[in-house]
Amino acid sequence: MSTRRISSFAHVGHIAIGGDNPIRIQSMATTDTNDTEASVAQAKRIIDAGGELVRFTTQGTREAENMKNISARLKADGYNTPLVADVHFTANTADVAAQYCEKVRINPGNYVDPGRTFKHLEYTDEEYAEELQKIEKKLVPFINICKEHHTAVRIGVNHGSLSDRIMSRYGDTPEGIVESCMEFLRIFRRENFNDVVISIKASNTVVMVTTVRLLVKTMDKEDMHYPLHLGVTEAGEGEDGRIKSALGIGALLTEGIGDTIRVSLSEEPECEIPVARKLVDLIPECTQLRAEAETSIKDDTITLTLDAPDWETFQLKAAMAVGALLIDRKATKLQLSSSQFSRSDLDSLSDALLQAARIKFTKTEYISCPGCGRTLYNLQETIARIKAATSHLVGLKIGIMGCIVNGPGEMADADYGYVGAGRGKISLYKGKVCVEKNIPEDEAVDKLLELINNDRK
Ligand code: SF4
Repeated sequence: MSTRRISSFAHVGHIAIGGDNPIRIQSMATTDTNDTEASVAQAKRIIDAGGELVRFTTQGTREAENMKNISARLKADGYNTPLVADVHFTANTADVAAQYCEKVRINPGNYVDPGRTFKHLEYTDEEYAEELQKIEKKLVPFINICKEHHTAVRIGVNHGSLSDRIMSRYGDTPEGIVESCMEFLRIFRRENFNDVVISIKASNTVVMVTTVRLLVKTMDKEDMHYPLHLGVTEAGEGEDGRIKSALGIGALLTEGIGDTIRVSLSEEPECEIPVARKLVDLIPECTQLRAEAETSIKDDTITLTLDAPDWETFQLKAAMAVGALLIDRKATKLQLSSSQFSRSDLDSLSDALLQAARIKFTKTEYISCPGCGRTLYNLQETIARIKAATSHLVGLKIGIMGCIVNGPGEMADADYGYVGAGRGKISLYKGKVCVEKNIPEDEAVDKLLELINNDRK
């Protein structure tokens, strides 16, 4: 059995993350953060389902200011769960949010660095150092506000939003993703601020697991032991979303890594909580199963026999047990057995696990974000329409993203992208290139299908 990695802990409101504390479960609201009623109601649903932290998007200072009202309403109704503000691109918003929320997430890829252009830029050593000084100049006043208000910080790196600066020096590599995080961490440590949680997320499970492991090693080398938040971004929805999350998050949890988790699904946020709870509860059993599966490998095949009270638990257990072995390519085939489920169900689950580990693609791959206050169209309905029309296109990767701010970067290596571009407007992408800008929402799904069909002809 693996033992839990020893991390320091961060105070986040009345709870602590890391150290000997239980692994915390969290989700993110999809409401408009300026809509206090809807935001409070949704936060309550997440908390009632067992969520221990609730995150909100704060695009600007107006949303950050409204966190004060959301927090006050929740507390008045007896909900003291810590609230987290999610900040991208506007460092000043973080300064405001830190006054009203128990935690603020900042993204090193866009805290000071501008949005990614995907162009290769060159930085001399002096220019690179100057950029780091700019970050420090913004970050130190923010840290002081956090100290004053006892607000924790999540340094949340996303594979899809690495800055051009980091890309110029390290390329799209695990080392670059980790360095993006370490640059910020070193400043926090210099400032003697310790209520910090780290996350490195990617929609590609192999990248996510490899990079988090590298981060742990790098932090250990510098004698840093900050708690870790785990998640697979843009995991999608339904069975595939659950399997992809369980495979990536489970690979690390069964190694003793992880202090808080979010299972990102393109569904109502409260649906994420029972899945996350199961992953945490299954850690001891799946750690044991993983050890057994490891010893079973023969002829490039993992053989695993298991049972579970229901099909969803079976899927999660299998994903957690074999996740690391598939990601590390210890074997590239899988033979599942059970006394409860049919051969065809077991075989299709094997296929889904191999696809989630990016070994073999037997279906269309959907990379869809969970949505948040930046999403201005009906994400779930759109995903269903796109899926219905494209599920026969084996191996094709389609990104369905809520917003233009983070969507294009985050949809990773999708072949096509459907991205919200403002109220009632959608932009379509082919790879990283925008091919149709701001088209009306009611024409967009048909246009996407037309684009795919024309290319296939
Ligand atoms: S990509 Fe989706 S989840 Fe991410 S910020 Fe945009 S709308 Fe929100």
